[in-house]
Formats: sequence, C-alpha cells, structure tokens
Amino acid sequence: MSALYLHIPFCLSKCPYCDFYSCEPKPGDIDRYVDALCIDLRTSRAAYDDEGFSAPFTSVFFGGGTPSLLSASQVARLLEMAAEVYGFASDVEITLEANPGTVTVESLSGYRTAGVNRLSLGVQSFDDAQLKWLGRQHDSSQALRAIDAARRAGFDRLSIDLMFSLPNQTLAQLQHQCQYVEQLSPEHLSIYGLTIEDETLFAQQQQNKMWQMPDDEQYRQAFLLLDDRLTSLGYSHYEISNYAKSGHGCRHNVGYWQRQSYLGVGAGAHSFIGHEYGERWACENSIESYLASISAGVSPRAKIEGFDRQQAMFETVYLMLRCRDGIDDVVFQCRYGQSFASAFAVAIEQCGPYLTCDNDRWRLDVDGWLLYNYLIENFL
Ligand code: SF4
Repeated sequence: MSALYLHIPFCLSKCPYCDFYSCEPKPGDIDRYVDALCIDLRTSRAAYDDEGFSAPFTSVFFGGGTPSLLSASQVARLLEMAAEVYGFASDVEITLEANPGTVTVESLSGYRTAGVNRLSLGVQSFDDAQLKWLGRQHDSSQALRAIDAARRAGFDRLSIDLMFSLPNQTLAQLQHQCQYVEQLSPEHLSIYGLTIEDETLFAQQQQNKMWQMPDDEQYRQAFLLLDDRLTSLGYSHYEISNYAKSGHGCRHNVGYWQRQSYLGVGAGAHSFIGHEYGERWACENSIESYLASISAGVSPRAKIEGFDRQQAMFETVYLMLRCRDGIDDVVFQCRYGQSFASAFAVAIEQCGPYLTCDNDRWRLDVDGWLLYNYLIENFL
C-alpha cells in the first residue's frame, strides 16, 4: 500500500492559533503552484520506483492550507497526472480538505466529478461566538450550508473537524455540538483540543493573560463527554482524536499511523519510505523555494530523518498506541524480531492498568489516552 499527499499551502487569512506555513494567494499563484505540482509528480516517479514504493496509490489526500481554494479543474488536472504516472487502486480513497466558506454545490460537484470521494470539512464549531474567537472565516450557517452542499454533491464520505478545550467552553456547549453531530450524521469526525503553539497570535494573547486555557480536569471532562456521547451515537473512537462510523475510518491517516509509505508533493510536504526501518523526506518548505527547485529541474526533496531499529520501534509504539486497534504483538515481532512485551517490559509495567493485552494486542484505554503524553515517555 502507498499513498499520495498533495500539500496546498494557501489560505484566505491566518487563523490566530495556526502555526502551519500558509500564504494568501495572489492572482496566478495557484495556477503556477499546480503547474509545479504536476512537474513534481512526473519527475518524482523515477525516485519513487528506486525507493521501492508500491504503486498504485490506495489513497490520495489534498491537505493544507485550504485545498478548496483550488478549482475543480485544477484538482482534476492533478488527479489525472497522478493516475497517469502512478496509477490508482480501483477503490482508491481520495480526500480533499475544505473550508466551509469556500465551497458551493457547484464547486463540490466539480471535485466529485474530478474523482474526490471523501470530503473533510474544517467546521471547528457550530457556535458563532466560538468561530469568531477562533478567527475563522465562516459562521455556523455557512458550515451547515457547506454540509448540505456536500450531501447534494453526492459525498457519502463526509468528515467534520471540530475543536474542544476552548477557553470558557462549557460541557453544555459541548453537548450542543454533539447534537449537531447527531442531526448531521457525518461518517467521520476529527476532534482536536485547542493547543497553543509558539509564535501565534494566541500565544501572545495567552502570555498577556487575555484569557485562560481550561485546566487538566476541565480537559478530562470534555474529552470523556465527547467519548461517551459520540460512541453512544454509534461512532468508534478509533484514534485519540478521531471517530468513525463502521467502515469509515480514514484510510490515509491509518496508513500514517501504521508507518506505510507515502509520497508528499508540494511546499513543506513530507514523504515516508517504509522499507527497512524507514526514512522521512521533506520538500522545500516555502512556496518560492519549492517553485525555484522545480523550475531549475532540481528535486525539492531532501532526507530529514533515517530510523534505526530502536527508533522505528519507538515510533511504532508512539503511533499505534494512539489507535483503538493498538499494537498487534505478532506483527511487531515479525517486523522487529522481538516482541513488544519483551522490548518494553519496564515501560509496560509503568503504564499500570491503562495498558492491557488481549489476544496479543496491546491497547491503552480512554483514561490512558488522557495521560498519553505522560505514559508514552515510559517508552523513550
Ligand atoms: S484555515 Fe487551517 S491551515 Fe489555514 S490558517 Fe486557518 S487553521 Fe491554518
């Protein structure tokens, strides 16, 4: 299995909590960038073969940034190029991230016709005051219109991003968000607690004590409320921050957590080569330097990390303990020549009752996920 990630680093404005690299596009910027992505897709093929990727792609993900700033014809062009050069599996999952204020039934129908079969909408909240505070470009009625438009355009694999652990967000407000989920019934949900990243506007505001983040106990109550409400609505809490109805887990992200190979194309995009113990590569991380490399005929990609056995074992543990499926010790032993139980006997002991084994499968429970950052230190 291998996957393709296309990075679209353009946004209409900067959200005050976001530390991702993104730019506001000027006329012609997106066209030039799509031209470069097409060249990169074509010229990377030789390296892709050498590195032992296994074509065809089983998933494709347009992430950003705001990929819904691309027109349907730009998306179609990229997909045609990727399909021609690498091939797609017959059941390929093709996801596009979209912001609610940037889509219409027409644009979404265009993406659908181009081959996109899964839509991930960055709703973040159905509460107007929260959306305003988060600096989002859309309000709740636009979010609802976008969801309706997605359904009318034929998307039957819809994911919604929401945020929790916002200052002053009450449990009653969170319950209200769950009521929207119940009514709208998306197939998938990604729900992240707000984190304050260095060098963002929110980091400054927090330093100036303009507001206060929820404490650990408030975070715990919110996390458990979401787990309880959403699992009772039939969602599987299949990864710390992700919920899905049966059969609707995000194949692309599951591939990341399982350390499967993927090719990343675009400014700042990472690639992972899963042979031996793994290597990570990254493209030039500014649009200008990425375009300059492509136009000079030079690869925009450089190796940033090579894993030895110990590092690969730790990364496997770090990624798989986030998942409900946990670590299959038979697979772990095949891959690393040593069982998880013997390689990490001391750490397992330190995790106490949060980490359990059933039929050779090691899992953290929901309370363990709440202590994830602390427990995972045991494995370092
Ligand atoms: S839309 Fe997304 S990527 Fe763009 S600035 Fe906001 S949070 Fe960051």
